Amino acid sequence: MNCGNRHIAIVGAGASGLFLAKKLSEDKRFRITVFEKNRQIGAKLRASGGGKANIFNREIRPEHYNKPAFLAKLLQKYAPERLEQQFADWGLVTVSDSEGRVYPASQFSQTVVDVLNDLPENRVEIVTEHNIQHLEYQNGKWYVDDFPTAFDAIALASGSPAGMIPKNQRNYNSYLQRILLKTRTLEASLSGFKLAQYPKSLSGCRTKAIVSLYQSNKLIHKEFGEVTFKDEGVSGIVVMNLSAYYRRLPSRENCRLEFNLIYWDERFDAVDYLAKYGNAVGLLHPKLAALHQAKPFPVTALAFPIEDTYPMESAQVCHGGIDLSEVDENFAAKNHPGMYILGEMLDVDGVCGGYNLFFAFASAAVAAEHLLGTSDGR
Ligand SMILES: Cc1cc2nc3c(=O)[nH]c(=O)nc-3n(C[C@H](O)[C@H](O)[C@H](O)COP(=O)(O)OP(=O)(O)OC[C@H]3O[C@@H](n4cnc5c(N)ncnc54)[C@H](O)[C@@H]3O)c2cc1C
Repeated sequence: MNCGNRHIAIVGAGASGLFLAKKLSEDKRFRITVFEKNRQIGAKLRASGGGKANIFNREIRPEHYNKPAFLAKLLQKYAPERLEQQFADWGLVTVSDSEGRVYPASQFSQTVVDVLNDLPENRVEIVTEHNIQHLEYQNGKWYVDDFPTAFDAIALASGSPAGMIPKNQRNYNSYLQRILLKTRTLEASLSGFKLAQYPKSLSGCRTKAIVSLYQSNKLIHKEFGEVTFKDEGVSGIVVMNLSAYYRRLPSRENCRLEFNLIYWDERFDAVDYLAKYGNAVGLLHPKLAALHQAKPFPVTALAFPIEDTYPMESAQVCHGGIDLSEVDENFAAKNHPGMYILGEMLDVDGVCGGYNLFFAFASAAVAAEHLLGTSDGR
């Protein structure tokens, strides 16, 4: 390494780690070593958006995250337009839909990984199949495992156990055990719900509905979209979004989901229809019509108590993680010099629609600007 160079370690070659490596590699003063436990890099990014990767949203709103105040500040520093420009500068052509969701024009998540992984070999090394077990800070330098390099800074970008099989969830991020960081318990978010008093006969039914999350008689959140009824409960993007609001409740007692199956016109008189035809055959999905026949229910308010969300392996993100009080506005750790904490490791989670990848990329972008000395101090 040349005199005057800074050598940065990045733990995790996922969305935030690769973004940081790419950004820092544009400056010749930096050398970067990325450690990745898997053989392949960017696994979750590749799985994102059903393989298409919804990489951000043009209309990001802070209130769709669990920490709106922190996000409002971040968005002032790093708005979606800046991320869009950054990807364009790196040659990634994107398209967006009517709800502001942005995808690579290739409609293939691997394109995003390939763009991020287009790195100068002389300045960036990616060490795959290296599961970091241990970090140590000594005399102003960071050391990882028995790797010989003394790093000037380290970025923790190792994500969360969301979406992983239970065997791999165990000991996730255990390398942090000896680093004192305030952490909130990890729970599944953006997942389906297990429902109580739920008839298995609905399994396989897919329909549109306005779905509301209630706690006792209080409406917590409602959304419209497609829902899929499964063996033990429901899933679908609407339902996953409701799970994010469910996770944010201080207590989860007496929660229920309510499905308004007459989603297309609030003036439609379902009572009149049912009185006229005597059944819901021409009105609802056949499985719902059969259920209605066997045990009539209000078609604008089919309700089931919530048992829990589906487990971590079917979640897209984690609720919880490293407390935001541990980092400053540049994602630098307050109590560990030269350490940055990025992406899903932090206690930030957003709804579906590009919110979580946006946070991973934006946190990396802001940390990169701080390391490069180009932050504008906002
Ligand atoms: C099925 C699915 C679909 C999703 N779809 C979307 C979507 O369309 N839009 C969206 O915004 N969000 C989506 N998300 C969420 C999004 O993918 C994550 O929030 C995002 O990838 C988090 O980025 P990250 O950099 O924090 O972590 P990751 O991208 O998970 O990267 C962490 C990396 O660190 C590595 N690692 C972990 N521990 C170690 C260690 N000890 N040593 C070395 N390496 C380690 C991991 O192997 C991984 O490669 C989806 C998630 C899932 C599971």
